[in-house]
Parts: sequence; structure tokens; C-alpha cells
Amino acid sequence: MKINKNTEMIITAVLVVGALSFLFIRVFRKDKRKIHNIIDELPVSSSCTSSDRDFDAVDTIVVHQTASICKGDKHPHSTAKYHVNSNGWCGIGYHLFVTETGKIFQTRKLRTESAHAGSRNNRTSVGVVICGDHRLADAPKNEQIIPKEQYRALIWTIGYLQKHYPNLTNIVSHASLSASRTDPNLHMNELINDVKKVRV
Ligand SMILES: [Zn+2]
Repeated sequence: MKINKNTEMIITAVLVVGALSFLFIRVFRKDKRKIHNIIDELPVSSSCTSSDRDFDAVDTIVVHQTASICKGDKHPHSTAKYHVNSNGWCGIGYHLFVTETGKIFQTRKLRTESAHAGSRNNRTSVGVVICGDHRLADAPKNEQIIPKEQYRALIWTIGYLQKHYPNLTNIVSHASLSASRTDPNLHMNELINDVKKVRV
């Protein structure tokens, strides 16, 4: 088939516009996700009530890992049960829970002071947890340590929190606050850099 110059130019133009649109969508597309609110589904203690705090003083996101094998969408329920019945806490320690498939659950009101990082830190922080136990994992990239979907959801969750609550400027690991902890068992610098790039 003989293609004349004009047809060739049109094909080239279509290809260039197509490639540019593809790149534009990839770079500027927002990552749309949902946070499932299950606060009222989770067990709380009958003998104590969590207190609300002045949210203006909350400036930190503490990242955790459950140190248990992921158990799907009902994992927050069993964690809450454990925190209430075995630890004697008022409710689940974490405010947000990210499953291995990247599902995001809100498990406590952000205004509620919760037991997740020691009494000194709880007052000024929000706890975000990923399920899993990677205490012995060693890999150069976070996506090689935990499932990619879970990692993307964790980045999104932190980015979302910071977008809606600009006071939350610090992102720290539980390990940095407690000598006996290693969680979330991720490279925090990589995580913090990835949060800067996420579009929520
Ligand atoms: Zn922790």
C-alpha cells in the first residue's frame, strides 16, 4: 500500500497526540480510593471511654504493622477484640487500617485519643496500621516487602490525611518511638518520598 505524505503526517500527529494524552493521564490522574468507615462495627470496652482531644495539637502520623498474618476484611475486628480484651484498652489502638489487598478502613474517629504509640505520643498522633508481619523481611524497596496494592493504599491514606489535615506534618514509624518495636518494617524515607508524590 502506498501512503502519501499527508496521510503519513496525519498518522504521526494522531500517534503523538495519543502518546501525550496517555502520559498526561498517567502523570496527572488522581488515585481515587475509598475509606470504609467501620468505627461502629468494632468492639469497644464497656469499662472505659476514650477521650476526645484537641485536634489542633495533633501533628504526627505514626505508621504501624500488626505483626500478625493478614486476615482480610475482618482483621480490624479481631485486632479491636484483642486490644480491648487482652490489652484492656478502650477500643482498637489504630485510627486507620490498611489490608493486604489495599482496602482502607477507618477504625476510630481521628479526634479520639487512642492507644497505639505510648501515652506520651498518643495525644498528638494518628495511628495508621498495615496488616502483616515483616519483621525479618529485607528487601531494597517497600513494594518488595509488602504487597504492592497494600503499599499504594498506605501511601494514599497518609497523603489523604495530610491533604485534609495539613497539621499532620510528621510521618514516623512506631519503631522510632519505641525501642522494643520494629514496625512498620518498611523503609520510612522511601515511604515519605512516595507520599510527597501521591495525588489524592
Ligand atoms: Zn506499632
